[in-house]
Amino acid sequence: MKITSANTGYIGRFAPSPSGPLHFGSLVTALGSFLQAKSNKGQWLLRIEDIDPPREMVGASDSIMRCLESHNLFWDGEVVFQSERSDLYDHKIQYLAEQGFTFRCHCTRAQLAGLKLGQICACAQQNLSSEDAAIRFNHHRVHQHFYDELLGNVEFPMQNIASQFTIKRKDALFAYQLAVVVDDIHQGITEVARGADLLEATFMQLALYDAFASLAPKFLHFPVVVTEPGKKLSKQNHAAEVDNNKVGVNLTHALGFLGLPVTNELQRESANNILNWAIDEWNLDKIPAKTECIDNRIGQADSI
Ligand code: GLU
Repeated sequence: MKITSANTGYIGRFAPSPSGPLHFGSLVTALGSFLQAKSNKGQWLLRIEDIDPPREMVGASDSIMRCLESHNLFWDGEVVFQSERSDLYDHKIQYLAEQGFTFRCHCTRAQLAGLKLGQICACAQQNLSSEDAAIRFNHHRVHQHFYDELLGNVEFPMQNIASQFTIKRKDALFAYQLAVVVDDIHQGITEVARGADLLEATFMQLALYDAFASLAPKFLHFPVVVTEPGKKLSKQNHAAEVDNNKVGVNLTHALGFLGLPVTNELQRESANNILNWAIDEWNLDKIPAKTECIDNRIGQADSI
């Protein structure tokens, strides 16, 4: 039984978007963030990021939770659903507006893409009030590097960092960057452990932490599972849904991907035994910091 959560101050989380069931790549992130929390004797929270109904798949939230439970990845406390937190997000946008960090914007994506480096669209000067405009956040301070617990110092060329970005869309949906930072602050997350596909987003999020005068958590970005160089395993490239009847195989594959010395015998153990073993073995120094190519049918494979 052993897996524990004590009140050590560490609070981590897994924050899937319910745009589909978990696939091997998202299982790796769930497992990595779980092991990082549990090896720190901390809490591991689950937050369903269901703020984009057009991209949501009916039943995906339930399927994600069932999949986590089948793999003995039990979260601490109540699940938080972002779709129930609109008032909080509006309240925080109001605060940002009062601090002078926002402007309303009518530009289309194409118009924004046509702006020169460092150029702000004309909307920023026009004090637009119409409700059907997007609300954009304007950085006053751009971070060019941050420390990642796995990758060390991460730097981005200045031109790749968006200095303004949308926090509430024209269709009144809240943007991921806003909701994720508001919730990570609100839930007291001390370390954000997630996939390296969100490295660039971290720069935008750090600017929001500044604007909220809130200390940023630690960040740890796991290698992304790809099917070929540069191609993240995802629903778009038909990643197989994790098969809940192959828990031992799935966990062992995911642990192997995260650098743990797994064996074929391990996959025949119970999920609880595998996870307890993994908590003892967990070592950030062993995680390959590079991405690795896998076959996207790995969830259906039988041996390591
Ligand atoms: N909801 C995001 C996703 O599923 C992850 C958010 C995060 O971990 O910051 O890609």
